[in-house]
Amino acid sequence: MKETTILPADYKIKQEAWPDSPCSSCFGSPCCGHLPLTHLSFRSRTDFLALAMLACFRNIILGQKETGEWTIYYHQNCMFLDTHFFRCTIHGLDTQSVICKSYDAHTCWYRPAFSDTRNRTLILFDLPRLLWLEKHTRFLRDGTVIGQPSRTRMIMAFNAMPLSTETRMAQKVPALRKNLLPFYRHDAQRFLFFPPFEKPTNAVHYELIRFRLGFPGVHLAVADNSWAYLICTQLRRELFQQFTREYFPGLEARHNCFSFSELQKQRLFYSELGNMWVIADLSHLHAIKAYTTFDWAGNIKRLPAAGQILEIIRTLNPRKPDKAA
Ligand code: SF4
Ligand code: SF4
Repeated sequence: MKETTILPADYKIKQEAWPDSPCSSCFGSPCCGHLPLTHLSFRSRTDFLALAMLACFRNIILGQKETGEWTIYYHQNCMFLDTHFFRCTIHGLDTQSVICKSYDAHTCWYRPAFSDTRNRTLILFDLPRLLWLEKHTRFLRDGTVIGQPSRTRMIMAFNAMPLSTETRMAQKVPALRKNLLPFYRHDAQRFLFFPPFEKPTNAVHYELIRFRLGFPGVHLAVADNSWAYLICTQLRRELFQQFTREYFPGLEARHNCFSFSELQKQRLFYSELGNMWVIADLSHLHAIKAYTTFDWAGNIKRLPAAGQILEIIRTLNPRKPDKAA
């Protein structure tokens, strides 16, 4: 069944045929290898803690823009990227998300940001760079930041500190095979949750989900009152120990601000399945969308509940009987 997506009238598809697109000459296609997950700031010691914890996870890198805003990126190639020729294998096809199709490659931000070795547009941080920044930051006694080195000083210092982001291809995670993950007591050293922590409200949100689920290791986590992104990664113990030894010896990985236990303190999550997320991937999205009702303008009138989504997934992927049965 062909999928139809009603988009707002001001949503323009700016895509050209591949040979005419600026993307065809873009080495590395950084936009297809760096998925922005959320924005953060560094205005206090608590902010520093959140950034440093994230920097301890594999395939997670941090970037600071000229505006001072921090973005958390998941560094992994989209499953549709031909990594030999750096070409999108679904360019212009129905299966490519509108998010990719509507991105204007002529005014692309990613290409200069990730190819400028002098970091003028974006400064990338791993844990050592972040610790350097913390040591050169002035704090009030209550932890508020009152001064940080200039961008020029950071860039000069980081010239002698090459970025060391160890990336790895996402692995299939056994705990996700049942498509359920408990709100509590899951593996906080492997799973990170990211916003929106809201339910989708229109067709564009589904396109954003489709774009994000194209990155291996990214899943959709569904509760009855909230949808989130689940990133399957891994805590790098050597980095975590370096960080905790120097700063917070009593800290444990489950204290991470992106762990579910911390989120639960801020928001009340709810699922009729009993404190369980339903975990979906890209192969389930088409069917989930088919059970969603839209109005004429593309706004969502009715979303399937978490339990219904689980049924949809199990219909698509019937479980094999246990060998022992
Ligand atoms: S959108 Fe930008 S970064 Fe992405 S492939 Fe095209 S030119 Fe390169
Ligand atoms: S689908 Fe989008 S993110 Fe994936 S390779 Fe194509 S352009 Fe890049």
